[in-house]
Amino acid sequence: MTLVVKDLVRHHPGNATPTLAGLSFDLPAGTLTALLGRSGAGKSTMLRCVMGLEPFETGTIDIDGVVVRGTYESSPAERQKAISAARARLGLVFQSFELFPHLTALQNCALAPVQVKGESALVAQKRARELLCQLGLEHRLDAFPEQLSGGQKQRVAIARALAMEPRVLLYDEPTSALDPSMKHEVLQTLKRVDATGVTQVVVTHDLQLARGVEHVCILDHGVVIESGPPTQVLQRPAHESTRALLAAWLQHDAP
Ligand code: ADP
Repeated sequence: MTLVVKDLVRHHPGNATPTLAGLSFDLPAGTLTALLGRSGAGKSTMLRCVMGLEPFETGTIDIDGVVVRGTYESSPAERQKAISAARARLGLVFQSFELFPHLTALQNCALAPVQVKGESALVAQKRARELLCQLGLEHRLDAFPEQLSGGQKQRVAIARALAMEPRVLLYDEPTSALDPSMKHEVLQTLKRVDATGVTQVVVTHDLQLARGVEHVCILDHGVVIESGPPTQVLQRPAHESTRALLAAWLQHDAP
């Protein structure tokens, strides 16, 4: 398993109920998983906890053998050490891509391996070129972000995250900043990345996208209520809350 989240509890001060109420899921290495849930289900909080951007009180997050424990169960120093090690194994693709506007696609992808990992510029550029080509951007290596379409910018952002060789790549609502006609392209991109063997977790509202992945987890009130292949969870949901969620989405997100 590359990402194992176990009994995660995050209670925001002042709230009557915990945002994450014993959240558990595990993702085998190399799978492409969509994490779905209504607004307020706890998806962003989960993402921030996994990235080490927000504390949680109890439970564990195991990223490829690095275990981050809750604030009630570990010292600040232990947590900081584990979070640093975990971050080296994680990549995050932001909704808004966050590319450097003054750098080309190739430079955007080659920068962090040199600055953060101390790689040689030559090695970093070679890998950046390979990744951009793998994602179908061989003709846009020297383009600046403003010269790229939304879908192309997203692929540069994904290549940039992959250039750091993460074990787990997380996406925050990857279709939300794009034209609806691009949804198919996003899924194709995720499948191309799937071929690299990295474990991908996609936080999304997008049913169309979720139908195309290997594994789906449904979050509700801070726990996973159902998980499995989309053919099972999205077509024959076992849980009443999943059925209600799908019915509400289908009204807004007609396939
Ligand atoms: P989702 O991403 O599924 O929409 P979030 O993780 O953003 O859900 O939020 C879930 C709930 O957690 C919110 O409805 C809110 O009650 C609570 N929450 C999230 N962040 C905070 C915060 N910083 N302070 C207080 N409550 C928060």
